[in-house]
Amino acid sequence: MKTLLPTSTAGSLPKPSWLAQPEVLWSPWKLEGQQLIDGKHDALRVSLQEQYQTGLDIVSDGEQTRQHFVTTFIEHLDGVDFENRRTVKIRDRYDASVPTVYGPVSRQKPVFVEDAKFLRAQTNKPIKWALPGPMTMVDTLFDDHYKSREKLAWEFAVILNQEAKELKAVGVDIIQFDEPAFNVFFEEVNEWGIKCLERAIEGLNCETAVHICYGYGIKANTDWKKTLGSEWRQYEEVFPKLQQSNIDIISLECHNSRVPIELLSLIRGKKVMVGAIDVATNTIETPEEVANTLREALRYVDADKLYPSTNCGLAPLAREVARGKLTALAKGAEIVRKELEA
Ligand SMILES: [Zn+2]
Repeated sequence: MKTLLPTSTAGSLPKPSWLAQPEVLWSPWKLEGQQLIDGKHDALRVSLQEQYQTGLDIVSDGEQTRQHFVTTFIEHLDGVDFENRRTVKIRDRYDASVPTVYGPVSRQKPVFVEDAKFLRAQTNKPIKWALPGPMTMVDTLFDDHYKSREKLAWEFAVILNQEAKELKAVGVDIIQFDEPAFNVFFEEVNEWGIKCLERAIEGLNCETAVHICYGYGIKANTDWKKTLGSEWRQYEEVFPKLQQSNIDIISLECHNSRVPIELLSLIRGKKVMVGAIDVATNTIETPEEVANTLREALRYVDADKLYPSTNCGLAPLAREVARGKLTALAKGAEIVRKELEA
């Protein structure tokens, strides 16, 4: 990446109201058939345009073609029954009705590759594509077949690796795996979670990232955060092993979060996507606030490895709020870039 402090988002962006109901997760589509296919493409174009206008350096599809960051990928796999749902506690935090794994999981055809090709044709900027991580996929399902979270995660890692290689082949520059579950199941992360992640990126000759956050700004998450005390030290449990792993970039939450910034020293040497935008509030950050978060992070991350970003996806926010926040992100990064270049 030639630009210093290249900006990007952690993933999702709001969808237009003609495509899906705004400001909710798992929002049902408002179109069907060919209209839905065209609508998703149009929304992707609008989302890309907004990323250009707000000044982002690394762009994405804004996840306009998916209903949810985990379930949309799983829907395309064999071995999972979406009719037969069970209620399970996900992220050890809240109940959700989830599909059941009833047999061997496999991917018969690519899931996002056509969408990525479409995005590639619209832009010359670097593209980042998000996929769910193996552990977070396992944690969003009821497993009635493998009866082992580790085994199922390994199978998903193999599938994700196939998809990731095809995404790279159509021109994706950075492939990101979303692993909010890494912030909850520390023992499993260290035993097999990181191993599965490394299986998912095996042989991939593009940059790779893992996104670990405290979730969208939904009530179940904000309630959970209230129980975490004055210092959020969860990253401390998984950073040492991640620092040793093959993953290139670690995407994490910083602004307005109680994560002690010095924990970044545990991943020294890695590129870091620093969350300088809070996704759990409608208050739009000022560029100076963004700059302050970045300056703090620069105490622990080399300037050429710092990627200003958002704490998590912005899908549940109003579009105007999201636009304001992205503008602040780009302007804040520009302030610090000038300081570094002075
Ligand atoms: Zn997130």
